[in-house]
Amino acid sequence: MAKHSLKPRSAYARRCIVLTTKHAKSIAIASPLFDKLKASVLEYVVDTDQLGTFSGEVERSGNALECARKKCEWSLDQLGDNVKYALASEGSFGPHPFIPFLSCDHEILYFIDRKHDFHLHLSHVSEKTNYRKESIDSMEGLLKFAKAAQFPSHALILRPNDRETKTFIFKGVNSQQELEESFEECMKQAANGRIWVETDMRAQFNPSRMAVIKELAENFADRLASHCPACETPGWGKVRAESGMPCKWCKSETKIINHEIFGCAKCSYKETHKPAHGLRYADPENCEFCNP
Ligand SMILES: [Zn+2]
Ligand SMILES: [Zn+2]
Repeated sequence: MAKHSLKPRSAYARRCIVLTTKHAKSIAIASPLFDKLKASVLEYVVDTDQLGTFSGEVERSGNALECARKKCEWSLDQLGDNVKYALASEGSFGPHPFIPFLSCDHEILYFIDRKHDFHLHLSHVSEKTNYRKESIDSMEGLLKFAKAAQFPSHALILRPNDRETKTFIFKGVNSQQELEESFEECMKQAANGRIWVETDMRAQFNPSRMAVIKELAENFADRLASHCPACETPGWGKVRAESGMPCKWCKSETKIINHEIFGCAKCSYKETHKPAHGLRYADPENCEFCNP
């Protein structure tokens, strides 16, 4: 059975998908959607900071997924019935879920299709990020931080004291002169003699993040190019994986993925597929009986 039901022609060919953003993300998103779907992406520039900022001046209300959905709905409501497709991206940064000492970038793309009447979101976790933050008391320390953060191709944010400082803040710092000046200004304001520095994670100031968003946009475009075998709605693809592959020696269930469930973005039709690696049995080293 075919994993993907690829139609010769995309449902989004010559259609316009509105991308709600303040951070020029079409740089990463437009080309995969054009190459794979022949869709054009139009940026709808709104002050998405109202929905929360990375640097913490405005706390994000709700989780990243809700935020991305709100951005899509915002555009659709503002632009009226002429627009049927909306896309938004949202990122969060922090320790890797499985490798705590490693930072990671968790990106979400949320899509609403009002013509075919469905919502679809995909996410991507990547360790390709410069995300870091530190309390610093010297220019020497700041330069060391800047080097590790891939400055100046990646911008920094500086403020006096600690992360709680909301009003005195330098963002998008991406030149040596700006770095030195903002350091001096922050030091003048710093009651505790320290400044807080962090990576600026806004996409247009962070090429690593832009690249991760692009990887996700590639997957997303593939997904929208795939149609449900039952109802023909775009967005067909893997919705979850189930573990339980039998051990090669004792045949008991392991935590290795045994099959993948494919589903539709709209109807309840599902298919079960063998995982792409094609193995039937798990290596006994993954078995809690053979290798406790
Ligand atoms: Zn076993
Ligand atoms: Zn369907």
